[in-house]
Amino acid sequence: MTDSHTNNCHQHDVLIIGSGAAGLSLALKLADHASVAVISKNTLEEGSTYYAQGGISAVLKPTDSFDSHIEDTITAGVGLCDPEAVKFTVENAPESIQWLIDLGVPFTTDSHQDGRRDYHLTREGGHSHRRVIHAADATGKALSTTLVTHARHHNNIELFENHIAVDVITGKKLKLSDDRVYGAYILNRNTEKVETFRARFVILATGGANKVYLYTTNPDGSTGDGIAIAWRAGCDVANMEFMQFHPTCLYHPEAKSFLITEAVRGEGGKLLLPNGERFMNRFDQRGELAPRDIVARAIDYEMKRLGTECVYLDISHKSAAFIKSHFPTIHQRCLELGYDMTKQAIPVVPAAHYTCGGVKTDLNGLTDIDGLYAIGETAFTGLHGANRMASNSLLECLVFADSACKHILSQLDIKTTFPEIPNWDESQVTDSDEEVVVTHNWHELRQFMWDYVGIVRSNKRLARAQSRVSLLLNEIDEYYGNFKVTNDLIELRNLAVVADLIIKSAIARKESRGLHYSLDYPKASPDEQTENTILSPEN
Ligand SMILES: Cc1cc2nc3c(=O)[nH]c(=O)nc-3n(C[C@H](O)[C@H](O)[C@H](O)COP(=O)(O)OP(=O)(O)OC[C@H]3O[C@@H](n4cnc5c(N)ncnc54)[C@H](O)[C@@H]3O)c2cc1C
Repeated sequence: MTDSHTNNCHQHDVLIIGSGAAGLSLALKLADHASVAVISKNTLEEGSTYYAQGGISAVLKPTDSFDSHIEDTITAGVGLCDPEAVKFTVENAPESIQWLIDLGVPFTTDSHQDGRRDYHLTREGGHSHRRVIHAADATGKALSTTLVTHARHHNNIELFENHIAVDVITGKKLKLSDDRVYGAYILNRNTEKVETFRARFVILATGGANKVYLYTTNPDGSTGDGIAIAWRAGCDVANMEFMQFHPTCLYHPEAKSFLITEAVRGEGGKLLLPNGERFMNRFDQRGELAPRDIVARAIDYEMKRLGTECVYLDISHKSAAFIKSHFPTIHQRCLELGYDMTKQAIPVVPAAHYTCGGVKTDLNGLTDIDGLYAIGETAFTGLHGANRMASNSLLECLVFADSACKHILSQLDIKTTFPEIPNWDESQVTDSDEEVVVTHNWHELRQFMWDYVGIVRSNKRLARAQSRVSLLLNEIDEYYGNFKVTNDLIELRNLAVVADLIIKSAIARKESRGLHYSLDYPKASPDEQTENTILSPEN
């Protein structure tokens, strides 16, 4: 139910930007009490949530404990987790999982000899117990499909697919004395017109920023829009140097984000240089079974040293039957792309996987601006510290959707007087005659971020990246000021902002810790001297 819709102007109690696990969970929790608009720049399903494989962590068995989940998370975060945020997330996890079960997410079950059934839990890297609930190897798909189905059937949720948020509307931007949020300007990609969405509460649930890198496991829309929007609106952004890379993604122009699970190495897969030489033992005595960060760093080192575009993963010494039965999906996908992994090594590269930093929020998901929230991968809550533990990210989406919901509901009865909000002004801009500027800058940015601000950093590389991103930011700003906005231009502008934030944060960290590794500062500072990197638009 829309409160009103006139002249391309919409009004709802709550405007949620993003339809992943974070955005849709919040929409469903609020919708019995408030009118909700959900904006999604593609289809509702298209986001990282849909592609999540492993599962969601939570303490679900009496043999496990909150203390253990807390300890594992804090260990993975290497001295930078906020203990309060970790405790809050872990203790609220079982309730969030129960909510999903009640919605009907088809989690995998185990049947016992006495006829009992319970949920099958797996164990992933960093977890000292089995605590990852999952739906086979396609948890995200099951989760997303269930949330989307419920959202489509709720009368109080209005869904806007193919709409992309440009910027939020705040008191400050309207030159008012207060600084609260009043809505957002949204580009309707079907009509190519920018529409005004008024709302008392706006939620940025736009996912991560991993598309800033040439190789990523994420879908195309992970362009850090929410982080850039919040930054432009005046919010603090934290820990952007901690970008998590997955060591092995298939290297093929058509494969895009195809992840090769760690289990291939677990089952004996060897990493090889283009000349066939095995190299992991030079970096870690555990060889291919070293932790993710070490493997990713070693591959990156060898690729940079040799100037090669990929390395190779070889499991062809195992029988074809074994490979086909253990890795049916990977085997099939590789075959489609011309590689028979039962007979040959497959080309792989590390790829940007998860954004640990983001828009700084409190435990309600509230940012520095009244009424503006950030939840899910867009947010920095303090949960992940310097490295995210597997399966804690979907959990964060759910727990903070719940706390943001409670916080919003507690304020729903307070009246907000809306100021006059001007329509989007296109009178000074024309259609672009130089789309090539957008495509060129898009490629240039992702390439230099990969080369200079990737897995292994140095002062020299970061300085190079900084001067390039400054040029791009100016060029993009000028372009943005002269031409009508398009989806690609909005994403490019946001990518440049998040690239700049990543570079600034990486430069600020004078140590190596968790996911940030610098050749110039290879050691970690003592834990008591380390801090989160908090960037503020005011400075
Ligand atoms: C291949 C892969 C496997 C993973 N496996 C796991 C796992 O097993 N367990 C786990 O916990 N985590 C996993 N993760 C991480 C996890 O999936 C994500 O962190 C999580 O899904 C993020 O959810 P989200 O709701 O914050 O964002 P997303 O699911 O990415 O959704 C973002 C939404 O925002 C929309 N959007 C973005 N910008 C705009 C804009 N400007 N205007 C309008 N809409 C916009 C998008 O269209 C999309 O709907 C995995 C990630 C990947 C890529």
